Amino acid sequence: MMKELIEKAKNTHSLDKNEIISLLSCNDYDEEIFTAADCIREKYVGNEVYLRALIEFSNACLKDCKYCGLRCSNNNIKRYNLDENEILNCVENAVEFGYKTIVLQSGENNAYSVSKLCKLIQKIKEFDVALTLSIGEKSIEEYKSYKAAGADRFLLRIETSDENLYKQMHPKSDYKNRINCLKNLKTLGYEIGTGCLVGLPNQSIESLADDILFFKEIESDMVGIGPFISHPQTPLSCTPNGDLVLAVKVMALTRLLLPNINIPATTAMETLAKNGQLFALQSGANVVMINFTTDDFKNDYNIYPNKSSANPLSIAENLESINRLVKMSRGNSLSWEKKNK
Ligand code: SF4
Repeated sequence: MMKELIEKAKNTHSLDKNEIISLLSCNDYDEEIFTAADCIREKYVGNEVYLRALIEFSNACLKDCKYCGLRCSNNNIKRYNLDENEILNCVENAVEFGYKTIVLQSGENNAYSVSKLCKLIQKIKEFDVALTLSIGEKSIEEYKSYKAAGADRFLLRIETSDENLYKQMHPKSDYKNRINCLKNLKTLGYEIGTGCLVGLPNQSIESLADDILFFKEIESDMVGIGPFISHPQTPLSCTPNGDLVLAVKVMALTRLLLPNINIPATTAMETLAKNGQLFALQSGANVVMINFTTDDFKNDYNIYPNKSSANPLSIAENLESINRLVKMSRGNSLSWEKKNK
C-alpha cells in the first residue's frame, strides 16, 4: 500500500490528504520516500545546487511570534539595523564569491522607509543579481514599489496552514492577511516562496498534510521547511525541538507533489543535526543559503539558538561529497519560468 502511494506520488505528483497522512504516519518506508524525492529532484531540477547569499539586515521586529527569538517581547537581544553602505558591502562580498542571488531578510519592522528600501534595491540590482526579499507582511502598494525597483522574489512562510494553530503562535498577526499577502505577491509577478515549521506544539500530522496541499494550492515557486527549534527566551522555551526526519519527510513529499520548484536544505535542519542539510539535499532539496551578514551582527539574528552557518569556502567540497555541483546562476524556479514564459 505505502509503496504504491510512493509510486503514485512519483508518477502523478498528486496525492490526496488521506494518502499524505498515511505516508507521514508510517515510518517504515521513509527511505523509499527520500529516494523517490531525490530521484524526482534529479529528473526535474538536475544535480546542481543553487547557492543564495543571505544578508540579515535588521533584527528589529514588531511581531511577537511565540517561537522566535526576534519577537518584540524579547528584551534580551541586541537589536541592529545595517545601513545602506554596510548592506552593499555584504552584497559586494557575495558577488566577489560569484553569487547571483541576494536574499535580503529582516524582522517585520518599519526601520527602512519604502523609498529608502527601493533605493537600496536599485543599487543592489546594479550588481546584476536576482534579488529576494524576506521582510514580512506589507501592503500591496509597498510590494508593488519593491517590484518596480527591481525585486524579483519574495519569501513569506505561512509557518502553518492550520488557522487555529496560526492564531496561537502569532498573537500579533492575522492568518487571512498573510494569505492575502502571498496572493498579492503572486499577482504582482514575484517568484514566491512559502513554507512551514515542523514540530510546533499542538501541530498534528493532518495539519502537516494540509501544509503540503497548501503549497500546491498557492502554486509556490519555492518552499522552505524547518524543524521547530526551541528558543530559551520565548514562551516555547520548554517545548521539545521538532523531529528532523519528520521535517525532511514533509520536504520530500513536497518535492514529490511540486517537482519543479526550488527547495532549500534549511539551516534549521543543519542546526538540529550535523549533516542535516546534506540529508535534505539527498531527499529532494536543491538550494542552500549561505550567510553573508557581517560577523559583528550574524549572532544577533537569533531566531533560534546556535544557528548553524554553512561556510562559503567549504560548501563546494561538501556538495561534491554527495555528487552534487555548485551552480552559480540566478537559479529561477522552473515553475515560475513556465508560468511567465
Ligand atoms: S518570525 Fe519573523 S515576524 Fe515573527 S517575530 Fe520572528 S522575525 Fe518577527
